[in-house]
Amino acid sequence: MKCAPFDYVRASSVEETVKVLGEADGEGKILAGGQSLVPVLALRMARPAVLVDVNRVPGLSSIHRIDDDTVEVGATVRHSRLVEQTRHPLLAEAARWIGHTAIRSRGTTGGSIAHADPSAELPVVAVATGASVTVAGPHGSRDVDAEELFVSALMTSLDEDEMITAVRFPQPARWGFAEFARRHGDFALVTAIVTEVRGRPRITFGGVASVPQRATTAEQALSDGQPATEIARIVAEEIEPTADLHGSVEFRRAIAAEMTRRALAQFESEQEQSR
Ligand SMILES: Cc1cc2nc3c(=O)[nH]c(=O)nc-3n(C[C@H](O)[C@H](O)[C@H](O)COP(=O)(O)OP(=O)(O)OC[C@H]3O[C@@H](n4cnc5c(N)ncnc54)[C@H](O)[C@@H]3O)c2cc1C
Repeated sequence: MKCAPFDYVRASSVEETVKVLGEADGEGKILAGGQSLVPVLALRMARPAVLVDVNRVPGLSSIHRIDDDTVEVGATVRHSRLVEQTRHPLLAEAARWIGHTAIRSRGTTGGSIAHADPSAELPVVAVATGASVTVAGPHGSRDVDAEELFVSALMTSLDEDEMITAVRFPQPARWGFAEFARRHGDFALVTAIVTEVRGRPRITFGGVASVPQRATTAEQALSDGQPATEIARIVAEEIEPTADLHGSVEFRRAIAAEMTRRALAQFESEQEQSR
């Protein structure tokens, strides 16, 4: 199937992008890496009137440390660059699990966060680290906590004329990452990330709900010094996955418990590894 016809604008600035989106009045879409949008267009699941290509907008493709604890990633930074960088090891590890080489060399950080796929890796890292998303709109720029950005599967709190320009990922003092997918390169069935951010533990999952989900009872158990087997048991009770083509509710609970054990083992073994 071919895409429905659309106008194409190659934006030269964030301001121009926001202006074109505003003028499109809900009929505009940003084109970044195109790895999620183009299949959607080809299947005619979306028919935007205008595509605004942000790939040549200057100032969106860098990764830099903004202080001792936080790394800022520009919206058009490709997944492959996240794999290669050494400033934020958890981001590098998570990005390695995204699709295949071709997808990682085109897909972008802003696109993955905006697309809000419940099984995607970067949204889980964003919630697991307490990231903040910088959003440009007609009235200037604002910062949104990642936990407030993700509303539902493939849905964020962004307005139609807003654009993600960067994501600030705090550096966890410790972390552990574990993922289960049927085949290498597939979207995750379950991703588990255990982090210590600003002195507090977080246990965050992808693939078990419509948005990245924290297991707060399990986090408390970790704070209380409970053993990994007990924390994994609490996780299996606490999360509320739904059954789908890939497995039953019980299957996903079991996988989440096992991924928790693995992520906790890494978390416990590598003190202050990210510094
Ligand atoms: C075969 C295949 C396998 C994949 N496997 C994985 C996987 O295992 N894990 C994973 O995480 N992802 C996977 N992906 C998706 C991939 O990571 C995409 O790159 C990513 O989801 C979207 O990034 P993009 O830059 O390609 O965005 P695009 O496809 O260009 O855009 C996606 C959506 O985000 C919007 N958007 C893009 N940039 C911005 C911005 N800066 N501000 C606001 N809105 C914006 C677009 O308008 C569109 O609605 C896979 C894709 C394919 C085709």
